[in-house]
Amino acid sequence: MKRIVLASGNPDKLRELRYLLRDLQVEIIPVCDLIPDWSVEETGITLEENAFIKARDVAAKTHLPVIADDTGLFVDVLGGAPGIYAARFAGIDCSYESNINKLLRTMLCEENRRAAFRTSAVLVSPEMEFSATGEITGVIIEEPDGEDGFGYDPIFLPDDLDQTFARCSPEEKHRISHRARAMQKLRDKLISSFIP
Ligand code: IMP
Repeated sequence: MKRIVLASGNPDKLRELRYLLRDLQVEIIPVCDLIPDWSVEETGITLEENAFIKARDVAAKTHLPVIADDTGLFVDVLGGAPGIYAARFAGIDCSYESNINKLLRTMLCEENRRAAFRTSAVLVSPEMEFSATGEITGVIIEEPDGEDGFGYDPIFLPDDLDQTFARCSPEEKHRISHRARAMQKLRDKLISSFIP
């Protein structure tokens, strides 16, 4: 089976990626299985730059095909914040809960609650590079609702659903999610490039 490395130490992303590519003959290996304590500074100013920084670093070190995804939450009334800094909105290495609490505090009494998740997913191998994007729009609700998913899922109500991502099954979330939309395009490239 073809081995592809995920340039992320985030178990939630690994779970989602394995779900999204479950019907392909590929084994998704988290980078930490190959390079313990792997990390790289995300110095880009776009999601795509940061995804490529992560993927190229791991590809150079493992010589294997690598997938990386970088996701941001863009809130209209905050001028697009937290944007690419969604993971560290409440501080370096902060919890999902602290990020949610900071966002809800920042948006207290705001009427315009429009927001979007955007993902840039990239595939890097010694032979080629490919990138794809996905987006989902919705609103930030006033208090967390639901236990599933991860990150900002408990406060994000997508336009096409009547419940937050944190109340959805993986199947429901990924019928419309930012990550699924980006990965759908990446899948086609994976199939044409790597999978016999
Ligand atoms: P990253 O930089 O791609 O690791 O993601 C930035 C942050 O966005 C993560 O730490 C999560 O808080 C959040 N995030 C990423 N993907 C999702 C998602 O699918 N749902 C909710 N939050 C997410």
